[in-house]
Amino acid sequence: MENEFKHNFCESRLQNNEGPELWNSYTSLVISAFPFLIGFPKSSMFYNIACMLSINGFASFHYHYYLNWYGKQADEITMILSNYYGIWGLLRMYYFYDKKPINWYNGWNSAFMVFFLVTNTISKYDKLFPNIFLLYLAVTIYLIYKVSTKYNYKYKRYLLTSAVGGACWVISEVYCNETTKYGHVVWHFMFPLGFYQLIMKFDQHYRDMKDAIL
Ligand SMILES: [Zn+2]
Repeated sequence: MENEFKHNFCESRLQNNEGPELWNSYTSLVISAFPFLIGFPKSSMFYNIACMLSINGFASFHYHYYLNWYGKQADEITMILSNYYGIWGLLRMYYFYDKKPINWYNGWNSAFMVFFLVTNTISKYDKLFPNIFLLYLAVTIYLIYKVSTKYNYKYKRYLLTSAVGGACWVISEVYCNETTKYGHVVWHFMFPLGFYQLIMKFDQHYRDMKDAIL
């Protein structure tokens, strides 16, 4: 049984709420391509994010093409889990071998992830996804800041790339017209790219930290 569900991004709103969103669906595939083009991280937490991204591109393609519940869930679950593994990896970097705070904070991360996934299965809460996701992402950004200042890593340029992508998405949804609809295309490229480049850098730093104590 299909859930009662109606959702349109700017591209299909401009075509009388009819799918498929061709620009959005085909450019989604670049999200799956990034790990294959840039490389896969070696550490397990960050490797899991790469796996989630390579699924997310196909899921997002399905969502934009069919605009259905199945696609929405596949797209959003992979986004939630990417953030989940990101927080876990960042906690491990920040506290390094101090297991107690890693487990304590990651326990809350796990609890929130489950709460988010369950809430997101209820179709009337569809509209809340961007807000709850932004809140969850704020935790990741805060940890990126904490880890970067602790170990003196560069991070701002990567977050800026993602932020430009995020701004283009907001502009396309709020001021939807024939020009701004391409803001969603820019979002598909820039939002995952900034974070993915940061993950690759952090993965290298994390391995350097581990090598240094051996
Ligand atoms: Zn999209």
